[in-house]
Amino acid sequence: MGSTPVGFGICRPCEGPTRPGFALCYCCTTLIGRLQMPLAPVTAVTPYRVGDGMHRLLRGYKDAPMAEVRSICTSQLAGILRRWLSEHVDRLLARTGGPWDLVVGVPSSQRPVAPVDALVDAVPLLARHHVSLLVRGPEPTDHLVASRRGFEVTSNGGAGCGERGRRALVVDDSFTTGARAQSAVAALRIAGIRVAGVLVVGRVVAPDAAWWQAAYWDSVIEERRAARTVEWAGGGHPVAGLPR
Ligand SMILES: [Zn+2]
Repeated sequence: MGSTPVGFGICRPCEGPTRPGFALCYCCTTLIGRLQMPLAPVTAVTPYRVGDGMHRLLRGYKDAPMAEVRSICTSQLAGILRRWLSEHVDRLLARTGGPWDLVVGVPSSQRPVAPVDALVDAVPLLARHHVSLLVRGPEPTDHLVASRRGFEVTSNGGAGCGERGRRALVVDDSFTTGARAQSAVAALRIAGIRVAGVLVVGRVVAPDAAWWQAAYWDSVIEERRAARTVEWAGGGHPVAGLPR
């Protein structure tokens, strides 16, 4: 019997797990091929597995039938983001190469108003630079489907009105392959806006998908144990009425 492989590498653009010795994960390699441009550095607040409390919270914030439940979930996510930023803003600044003067949410693929905009507005450090610059473009974006034309900068608040040359932090709620976030990055760059990086609240990890993903997940659990943090890194009480 061969020995069980252990360890994992960290993908340079997305900081997700990759096969040891590889600088890029499969998703980032695919996205670079599709977008034909370098990817922006991604920082994720909380890794989670499908079905975890964080996953239910993210689903509740987007899809709970009752507005009140969506609002409670948004408040909890904003609290997680505020606490994380209060402790880790220096790490984020190092990762993004310095401060940003625009904060741009990734538009929703289904809803006219993206829930991430409400989330950003509830976090003062982000809200003060928040601008709605992006709308959906003529080409689709989906898991692993990235496009330079997946989003467009709006003409009324866009690069023609003083944003050109400024540095943007792109914010999204959840991160699976990065296709939507990196398509948003591409659209901003095409409009002349420099992108400092991408901040996401939750990153999906699939420990069953590959041994290095399992090893990465074990390290997440170990870190939480050492830091005595709960599942979604910062506390919060279960929200009644969340989808299961
Ligand atoms: Zn990656």
